[in-house]
Amino acid sequence: MGQVVVISTGGTIASRWQGSGFAAEARGGDVLATAAVPEGVTVRVVDLMSVNSARLTTAHQLTLLRTVREVLADPTVDGIVVTHGTDTLEESAFLLDLHHDDPRPVVFTGAQRPLEAPDGDGPRNLHDALLTAATVRDMGVLVVFDGQVHAARGTVKVQTLDADAFADPSGSRVADVSADGVVVHRRPERPAALPLPTATEPTATGKLPRIDAVMHHCDGDPLLLNAAVAAGAQGIVLVATGAGNATPEICEAVEAAVARGVLVALTTRVPTGPVAEIYTHGGAVDLVAAGAVLTGTLRAGQARIAVLSAALSTTDPAGRDRALRHVLGSAPAATVTTEATAAAEATAAPRVAA
Ligand code: ASP
Repeated sequence: MGQVVVISTGGTIASRWQGSGFAAEARGGDVLATAAVPEGVTVRVVDLMSVNSARLTTAHQLTLLRTVREVLADPTVDGIVVTHGTDTLEESAFLLDLHHDDPRPVVFTGAQRPLEAPDGDGPRNLHDALLTAATVRDMGVLVVFDGQVHAARGTVKVQTLDADAFADPSGSRVADVSADGVVVHRRPERPAALPLPTATEPTATGKLPRIDAVMHHCDGDPLLLNAAVAAGAQGIVLVATGAGNATPEICEAVEAAVARGVLVALTTRVPTGPVAEIYTHGGAVDLVAAGAVLTGTLRAGQARIAVLSAALSTTDPAGRDRALRHVLGSAPAATVTTEATAAAEATAAPRVAA
């Protein structure tokens, strides 16, 4: 059926008991050895790292992005599987999806139970991911878990312990997978891919951009948002209440941050549904007027990745704002002309709904 490359990064699917708790330890070959390889599929393993995904940095994620590009440069490869910790899987998957411009799939999977657990879910997930990677085309970056295939965009970890760990709470899965094969229900909507970021490593002049997330709650004030700006954040995700609401004081802080060239994205702590301009007196109406960008149905982790990709695309504040709106699907193609998106715009139009 084809050649699939497994890029191993760690997580529970590669974890063993450490004496006090579990941690990623095993290499990709050990992880692959637990799974049945679908008939006709040949597999090559790339051992990239073996870490718990809560410890991943932007530098790790950009290394993964570069590795995927290098692997796909080989035309004999039919697809990629990334084994990854579930805690931040949705962030790495979305980052790769924003930059993915190849018909061949990149399929993320992992496990909720450790490598050698007798009732482990890793072997089945890995089998299903291999089958999906060898089979589908033009679906971008996918997440395969518990027999379900999700588009990277919008998908979040929804269970801390149960095997059906992932879903898009505001959408539906794109396919199902079983030993019999993959049944595709729909193709994900994706904007034109961003080119690879030029700054993929900390530079001599500074680190990779700092992007923070701040949650609003009763009695919340602008202190942490302002602290993020003072710490040098180039982007901030405001995790607001309801459909995207906070306070007049936070709106003022957002306006001041945006005036300094900081990107501010607005999401919500509610699990399902979009943010929307409904309320004033510190609500989304005022936050948007202050310069915050609505993130549709993206939750905090992926909203942060959208901001990160925009910040990596150019150093120009206006260009960053356009890039952010582009990846969020909130700007018409004609207005998106940053250095990051110009090449992408030449070949494809955005296809994502806000
Ligand atoms: N702590 C693990 C991680 O690396 C959890 C998992 O993989 O399920 O994300």
